[in-house]
Amino acid sequence: MTDAATVAPIAAEGPKRLPWRVATVSAIVEETWRVRSLVLDVPDWPGHRPGQHVDVRLTSEDGYQAQRSYSIASAPESPQLVITIERIEEGEVSPYLAMDVQVGDRFELRGPIGGYFVWTEAVGGPLFLVAGGSGVAPLMAMLRHRAAVGIGVPATLLYSSRTYEDIIYRSELDALAARGDGLRVVHTLTRGAPPRWTGFTRRIDAAMLAEVGFPASEKPKAFICGPTSLVESASRALIDLGHDARLVKTERFGPTGA
Ligand SMILES: Cc1cc2nc3c(=O)[nH]c(=O)nc-3n(C[C@H](O)[C@H](O)[C@H](O)COP(=O)(O)OP(=O)(O)OC[C@H]3O[C@@H](n4cnc5c(N)ncnc54)[C@H](O)[C@@H]3O)c2cc1C
Repeated sequence: MTDAATVAPIAAEGPKRLPWRVATVSAIVEETWRVRSLVLDVPDWPGHRPGQHVDVRLTSEDGYQAQRSYSIASAPESPQLVITIERIEEGEVSPYLAMDVQVGDRFELRGPIGGYFVWTEAVGGPLFLVAGGSGVAPLMAMLRHRAAVGIGVPATLLYSSRTYEDIIYRSELDALAARGDGLRVVHTLTRGAPPRWTGFTRRIDAAMLAEVGFPASEKPKAFICGPTSLVESASRALIDLGHDARLVKTERFGPTGA
């Protein structure tokens, strides 16, 4: 890994021009019953910016290859690269990464990729992050970066999970919000809440975005990531609420809802 402060290049020429590197799994974090984070050592990693992703390429013994994108969840300031994988039932790649991979295993990746869905301290705030499920991964890179540089840009994360047990990075999010540096974390649980839960218990909708988010007049930088349906409805709702479409950035992970 390079110095954390290195500004990562935008893959402006397209990911195909980026070299494949061999990543070694140095640690595994069980985030929830179906989500794991892989801590990776990647020699000669050029650095990244929060919100960017990598392509992971797996090759089986018979030479068959499968390739998928995974957001970088670690801050640029972190010495190792972290990706967070949700196991999709019947999926080709995610069950392997989320269940079978062991410390010491190696696979190929290339990146960093993407220059649009990116937030750094230079972009400023307020920062309004909206996530569904594992869509929190690139937003976590932004929050970790925000905490690492200590700039205290006003920020809100609105995070939709199925249940309390499905909340990824739960204790770290609690700790980040407890720093009292202008970060607010608001959860909504769509498939059942524990007793005494006082938070939201429905899918993210326009009323929730209006209640939790910053007013359009403050020109917040919005980043929405998760299942396609959530991303499309939340971005449409923000624009209907008067937010500038150029300040509402989206990343779609897959087809189903949280
Ligand atoms: C830019 C980008 C960043 C991404 N970052 C992450 C990340 O940080 N963490 C992460 O877990 N995933 C991330 N994804 C999704 C990831 O690339 C894969 O699509 C996902 O892991 C499923 O791959 P698979 O091979 O297991 O499933 P596949 O074999 O590709 O699909 C199996 C079945 O599951 C459905 N499916 C595919 N993806 C999803 C999904 N996300 N939700 C529900 N159903 C799905 C398919 O339609 C299909 O029916 C990202 C995607 C993109 C485009």
